[in-house]
Amino acid sequence: MDNLVDAFERVLGRPNVLFGKEISARHFSDWSLAPALAPDFLLRPNSTEKLSKILSICNSRNQPVVVQGGMTGLAGGATPQSREVAISLELMSGVQEIDPVGMTLSAFAGTPLQVLQEAAMQYNLVLPLDLAARGSCSIGGNIATNAGGTEVLRYGMARSLVLGLEAVLADGTIVNSMNKMVKNNSGYDLKQLFIGSEGTLGIISRAVLQLQPQFQATHTALCALNDYQSIIEVLNAFKRCLGGGLTGFEVMWAGYYRRVLEVLPSLDDPFGHQHPFYLLVEYKGNRVEESAEWFASQLYHQMEAGFLVDVLVAKSQQDAQKFWRIRDGIGELLNLKGVVSNQDISLPIHLIEDFSQKLLMELDDNYEGIDALFFGHIADNNLHTVVFSDRAEDGRAIERDIMELIGKFGGAITAEHGVGVLKKDYLSLSRNDAEIALMRTLKQALDPGNILNRGRVI
Ligand SMILES: Cc1cc2nc3c(=O)[nH]c(=O)nc-3n(C[C@H](O)[C@H](O)[C@H](O)COP(=O)(O)OP(=O)(O)OC[C@H]3O[C@@H](n4cnc5c(N)ncnc54)[C@H](O)[C@@H]3O)c2cc1C
Repeated sequence: MDNLVDAFERVLGRPNVLFGKEISARHFSDWSLAPALAPDFLLRPNSTEKLSKILSICNSRNQPVVVQGGMTGLAGGATPQSREVAISLELMSGVQEIDPVGMTLSAFAGTPLQVLQEAAMQYNLVLPLDLAARGSCSIGGNIATNAGGTEVLRYGMARSLVLGLEAVLADGTIVNSMNKMVKNNSGYDLKQLFIGSEGTLGIISRAVLQLQPQFQATHTALCALNDYQSIIEVLNAFKRCLGGGLTGFEVMWAGYYRRVLEVLPSLDDPFGHQHPFYLLVEYKGNRVEESAEWFASQLYHQMEAGFLVDVLVAKSQQDAQKFWRIRDGIGELLNLKGVVSNQDISLPIHLIEDFSQKLLMELDDNYEGIDALFFGHIADNNLHTVVFSDRAEDGRAIERDIMELIGKFGGAITAEHGVGVLKKDYLSLSRNDAEIALMRTLKQALDPGNILNRGRVI
């Protein structure tokens, strides 16, 4: 082990090879419920070349490695396991270049997402990836998990923003694929191997991202609906009439909505009385007045058709923020005692309500003192479920029941957070044998010693 320390120190210098009490507890676990553990060492390379050298050392000694970005992951992927060395990308941070003509941004993988969003704004451009963990999560982690968030409806998941990247393979090989062009069909699109593979096939060291022009105006409305079919009608109508300007479509079931208002008493219910469903819609346009009128007219049509039973249009940014606070109240809910399961899953849109009803019935039949809450982006198939119980010991069984039901509905066991360690046992409920076999073939080809994020995903 001493030789290993010497080898790391020769590459990184003593201050960037940390062990024992030198390692901050922040590196012991991500935000998931996976059990925390200190890594054997924490290595902090500050360049791709150094990253390559330490990986090569680890590979030649069959030393398992856990890759760490901003540690905000919710699947346990960055949480160390026994005997692992943690490689943190935190020193590989910063914007390398912004090309305002091609609207691209090149950055090091450890850069926090918010830093990149702010850098793009200085050029009146946007990096259309946003999630509540923006201040801490890193772009490398976002790409490795193919992060989603609130802009997916308009711009797609992280995958669709990545034009190119650089990755270091387990044996230290640097694969520079920093393409800046939208069209490039010259052979296999190698970046796709690393996007969403959760650090199991290589460590992303840099990336080129596609930026977008900023919209001039954002319009927000909070709506009330009586049933799930109305949500589908409104979604389809808005997709047709609001087109690419429809940037947010967030549905909250009554149970979720009420619980958030209980937990955040400073937020009064903006509606006079309760409704079965709530919908937060966001529409962006370039002509401020025209887009406001167009948005209002579409809301009005949906009220006339009877699909929306009440509508509140934000008259100020404060109003809009208040509406979003209700949707984002999940942050506070997750800190409450009694949360035994927090799932992010995907389903065909038309099956989402059937699924939630069936799940409620199954949980009620099999467990006591259960409260299940639902909310989600819906338009991109994503449903979040949070289950509360007085009996923490029921958590694993409840999780398995949810996963098995997802399998029966043909859904995905994870929509955006990834498989990590927490969903690994359920992968076969969402992917077939041939798919999993091909995943193993890729893993074996790129990391034959199985040193990178061992025991995650597959
Ligand atoms: C409050 C909150 C809100 C969130 N909201 C969302 C949301 O809306 N949508 C969403 O998708 N996620 C969300 N997440 C989850 C999380 O923020 C994302 O998964 C994020 O992309 C993780 O980035 P990170 O840098 O923190 O990665 P980490 O947690 O450090 O790592 C995540 C995984 O990626 C691997 N990894 C990290 N960096 C690299 C790299 N450079 N190369 C290769 N592998 C790497 C790790 O080994 C691990 O497997 C949320 C989390 C929190 C705490």
